[in-house]
This record gives sequence, structure tokens and C-alpha cells, in this order.
Amino acid sequence: DLTVGVLALQGDVREHLRALAECDALARPVRRPEELDTVDALVIPGGESTAISKLAVDFGLLDPIRKRIADGMPVYGSCAGMIMLAGTVLDGRPDQQSFGGIDMTVRRNAFGRQVDSFEAAVEIDGIDGDPFHAVFIRAPWVEEVGPDARVLGRVTSGAAAGRIVAVRQGHVLATAFHPELTGDLRVHAAFVEMARAS
Ligand code: GLN
Repeated sequence: DLTVGVLALQGDVREHLRALAECDALARPVRRPEELDTVDALVIPGGESTAISKLAVDFGLLDPIRKRIADGMPVYGSCAGMIMLAGTVLDGRPDQQSFGGIDMTVRRNAFGRQVDSFEAAVEIDGIDGDPFHAVFIRAPWVEEVGPDARVLGRVTSGAAAGRIVAVRQGHVLATAFHPELTGDLRVHAAFVEMARAS
């Protein structure tokens, strides 16, 4: 069966573990390189990307995760997790690292200039049914994607209308919002399906 790890250095780890378990994946926290070796796929939670970056370095996980992603491990990141999956991070700390995986430029705390947290309906390509009720908390947005990245969703109304908030590149998926906090399992289900298919 499919084992999905949740990077458990900082952030809303438990919420992701629960959502994955509800999608019938074996979900377990990953804190050490040996634990990374036992998972088929990985979720990077929401939280604080500067902290996740620092702890990933301290726990010896930065290069192993980069390598697994480069080798094709399916990964999904929400919010801070999206930042960790970006090739380029704007408004990061000078020493902030990312795992990469998606050829995109994200801006940290991008909506914060207007409002710290908000909720919006977002349509996501490949997810059927009602628009996603998306919760944004000091979220990033995507300023630019490379030719291999596919935009899956944008904010549709308000001051941030048009901003990219969901992206996929091959086996790597990222959202600026937090489906793990709303009980809508469609993004996790889509990721689990994507991981099973790969
Ligand atoms: N602002 C946080 C960061 O830069 C992300 C916030 C979140 O994950 N809710 O990492």
C-alpha cells in the first residue's frame, strides 16, 4: 500500500496526517533521513517556511529531500510547503533554502500587504464539484511559472484576483492555501491518486 510521509519539523503536521489517513493512505511523520527512506510520497505542511528550512538543514533532510524529489517522489506542499517547493522564493530570509521541484517564483506573505488571512472560492483544474473553499493564512502567491509548470487555480475575485494559488509540475503539487484545515479532502485525495499512479 501507499505510504505517505508528512515532513514533521514544524507546522500543521497532524492535520495533514489525518487528511491522508482519511484518504486511505498510510500516513506517518518524517523527521529523520531514515524515515524519509520508508515513504513513497511526501507532504510538506503549512507553517513557517523559514523555520522548516532551518530545521531541514539541522536535521540533515535538505539534500535527501531534494534528491528524492529529483528522483521522482510525489510531493505536495501547502502554503509554507508551497514555498519549500519553489525554485525561487521572493521576500525570504537571506539564508532561506527550498527543496525545489516546481519551476516557479513564489512571494512569501504576498497577500499580507492587503490582509493577513482570508477565505476565497477557488476552482482547481482536475478537481470536480464545487469550487474549493480555500483558507489563506499569511500565504504566498505564485508570481511566475516556468514552461513545465501547470497553473491549476487562481484567485477569482477581490484585490488579488488572478493570482496563481495552485500549481503542478509532474509529480509535484502545491497550493497556497490549506485544505488540511477545512475537512475538504479533494486535494489530498487527488494527491494520493497521483502518488498511486506514479
Ligand atoms: N508565511 C508563512 C511562510 O512564509 C506561510 C504561512 C502558512 O503556511 N500558513 O512560510
